[in-house]
Formats: sequence, structure tokens, C-alpha cells
Amino acid sequence: MASTGFNSGLDIGKSYYVATAAPAVVHPALQGEVEADLVVVGGGCTGLSAALHAAERGLKVVLLEGGRIGWGASGRNGGQMIPGLRKGAKGLVRSFGPERAKALFDLAFEARGLVLDIIERHAIDCDLRLTGHLVGAVSASDLRDLEEEAECLAKVMNFPHVEMLSAGQARGIVNSPYQGAMLEKLGGHMHPLNYTLGLARAAVAAGVTIHENSVATRLDREPSIRVSTAKGSVRARHAVLAGDALLKGLEPRVNSRIMPVGNYIIATEPLADAAEVIPGNVAVSDTRFVVNYFRLSADGRMLFGGGERYTPSPPADIAGFVRPHMENTFPQLRGRRIEHAWGGLVSVTTSRLPHVGHYGEVYFAHGYSGKGVILSTLSGKLLAEAITGDAARLDLFSTLSPLPFPGGTALRGPLYVLGMLWYAMRDRLKH
Ligand SMILES: Cc1cc2nc3c(=O)[nH]c(=O)nc-3n(C[C@H](O)[C@H](O)[C@H](O)COP(=O)(O)OP(=O)(O)OC[C@H]3O[C@@H](n4cnc5c(N)ncnc54)[C@H](O)[C@@H]3O)c2cc1C
Repeated sequence: MASTGFNSGLDIGKSYYVATAAPAVVHPALQGEVEADLVVVGGGCTGLSAALHAAERGLKVVLLEGGRIGWGASGRNGGQMIPGLRKGAKGLVRSFGPERAKALFDLAFEARGLVLDIIERHAIDCDLRLTGHLVGAVSASDLRDLEEEAECLAKVMNFPHVEMLSAGQARGIVNSPYQGAMLEKLGGHMHPLNYTLGLARAAVAAGVTIHENSVATRLDREPSIRVSTAKGSVRARHAVLAGDALLKGLEPRVNSRIMPVGNYIIATEPLADAAEVIPGNVAVSDTRFVVNYFRLSADGRMLFGGGERYTPSPPADIAGFVRPHMENTFPQLRGRRIEHAWGGLVSVTTSRLPHVGHYGEVYFAHGYSGKGVILSTLSGKLLAEAITGDAARLDLFSTLSPLPFPGGTALRGPLYVLGMLWYAMRDRLKH
């Protein structure tokens, strides 16, 4: 896949995923004026899923992607499939009470079944591994938090698929010295770019027209919805904004509730001892505020994400930036060759809950706060349901609306950086 201008930053072209991507169709850029029932901005999993499900419900759909399909977060993430929302079960109960918390959790959990169904129905080859997701506790107090979380999942959410592990048991699954761990048995991992490309293939088969290299530069609502690019425009009854961290400008009310945070991943050379490093082949994240998350690729590489930057500029040497995080977690990997290093923008919200809803006929969903691999596909489906007349499930999510960042889009950066740096420092003091 050749590099293009829009969203080709943070070295996506050097990612392990691009190097191992399934052959992808090139979709021509939009030229001239077209009409549709629905125009979708963004060719990640949110936009593609909205497009697929709307087309399956009979709508004529045109999707505009500024760069290439999957070159946003959807095609460059850690590939960790983690059921639920970024805000954990305990946090949901604290914020919404047990009944509503359970309804939200149950709806979010549907994402897993939906993604598995899409993978099967559309025969998407994406290195799917349903081996579980393990959360490693880096301190005794974090382990107590995980125990409370597991108890809340079992008792309030009626969700028995988690197990607490002692330090010794955890080490049998991932060979790093945690204080103990929570194993989410229904988690797993996959090749996210190949999943996203498969979703695009499914959308096209359902009748969706995709235009790549078509940056939406303007959204008009009167006399009817019209989304314009440099060389054309789409007039439609409804619009979906699914640009996540990259959307910028089109709808300020949507932008002010998310904050893009740079996050970086490396892939080592294939490891002869991969099965000794993560014997359970699970997806792993730890309890650090600036989370480390990692897993093995299908060809036995360590794919390790760690370190965040709250400034717009990426580190000059991404591999050098992430390597210490990997080597602290796995001293046995010291000095291993790093063959790929890249980054992406995670969109976070003040509440760590997604921002989903609509202003009139302009719908949006974003801000999964680092837990969007499967949630994005569900959100897209909920948007399509609402657009075609059944808003009940979207409404459940849209009532979560997180507060805008203080200072709006201009000041959210500096103020947020101060807050995040404080948390990151607190994190360091724990160890
Ligand atoms: C480095 C990284 C690691 C992550 N790891 C995980 C993980 O392991 N597990 C997990 O659950 N989540 C993870 N996430 C989060 C997850 O990847 C995202 O939540 C999810 O992919 C968001 O999907 P999306 O479709 O909403 O956005 P995206 O995939 O970003 O898609 C948005 C698309 O819109 C396009 N676009 C934006 N503006 C315009 C415009 N004006 N015109 C046309 N097109 C436009 C962009 O080019 C982009 O392709 C990670 C994210 C990153 C960045």
C-alpha cells in the first residue's frame, strides 16, 4: 500500500500491519456532485460499519476517506479485543447506578459478538486469536482494584468470564513479574488493518461507494446536507462523522469533546522464544496510567505499545522511545531487533466514555479512549440503526455525552497535558 498525504503521519507506512496487509482495492477519489441517502466521513471501523449496516438496510451510501481505508486508528492500533468500555464496571456503577451501568455494559459487550459474526460472515482473514486479555497489576493496590473490578463484573454485571490470578499463575500466561492479574477470558487479538480492509470489502459488497483520498473540507446543512471535498460533493439526507481524532473542523461541537493523544507501537523481529515470553498468547495490558499493552503477532513478533505524548509532534525516534517500556516489562527481550515502529492518535474524552449522538441529521461516534477496536464496529451499527428509524440503542450510549475539554479545542491541549503529566508522575511514584 502506497503512502498518501492525509493521515499518513506517525510512520503508518512503516507499520507491521501495512507490511503484512491483505491486497487492498484502491478506491478512486470523489469527482463531481453525487447524491446519496447517507454520506459517511471516515474509513475506519466506525464509518465502515455505519456504511455497511446502513447499506444492508437499503440506504444508498457514499463514504469519503481522506487517506486510505484503515490508515486512521483502526488500521494501526494494538489489535487488542477487549470487551466493555474504557471506564470499567466499577466506574460505570459509580457514575450511573447498577441498573443503567449493566445496560451500558451489556450493550458494549455486544461488540464482541458483532465483530466475530462479521469476521465469519465475510470470511475476513485477520489472524483472530480468542485467547483472552490479561490485565497485569503493577502494584498491590492495583491488584486490589482489579479484585474489586472482577467482583463487580460478576455480581452487578452478571459476567462470570473473568478470573483473578496470583503472581505465579499470571507468570504462566505472560512471563513478566506482575503482582497478580485479572484474566478476561473473552478477550483476544487480531490484525486490525486486515479486519478493517475486510470490513471495507463487505461494505462495498453491500453496495457502498467508497472514495479514498477525498478529504471532507466542508459540511453544509442548508438547504440540505452537503459534504464537500476538493473535487466534488455529496448531497444526502443524513451524514455520519466518523473521523475520530483526525476529523478537525467539520463540526466544532463534536471536536471539543475529544483530545487526540499520540501513542506508539513497535514490532520486534520474529522471536524464537515467543511461546516462553507470552505462553498464553493473550493480549496484555497493565495497570499503569500510561498503559503498556502488548501481544504476539501471528508470526511470533512482540507488538508492544507504550509511552504517550501530549504534544502534536511525535518522538524523532519512535523505536527508541518505546523500547525502554518493552525492556522494563520483559528484560529477556533486551537488545532484540525492532523491525517496525509507528504511532497513531488515540482520541480520549474527559469521562473515558465514547461521545456518540447526533445534531439533527448529522450523526457521530468517536472518543473510545483507547478501547475502540471492537466498540467502533458496534457504534457504527448503532448509528445505522438510528438513521433507519430505531434510535433506542444509540440513545442509551448518547446519554453518556462527556463534558467538553476545558478551553475548547484551543486550550484543551495545554490544560490536558498538565493533568496527564500529573497522573503519569503519580504512576511513576507508585513503583
Ligand atoms: C496506537 C493506537 C493503539 C490502539 N490500541 C488499541 C487496542 O489495542 N485496543 C482497542 O480496543 N483500541 C485501541 N486503540 C483505539 C482504536 O484503534 C480506535 O478507538 C478505533 O480504531 C477508532 O476507530 P474509528 O473508525 O472511529 O476511527 P479511525 O480508525 O481513526 O478512522 C477515522 C478515519 O476518518 C478519516 N478522516 C478523518 N477526517 C476526515 C475528513 N475530514 N475527511 C475524510 N476522512 C477523514 C481518517 O483518515 C481515518 O481513516 C488504539 C488506537 C491507537 C491510535
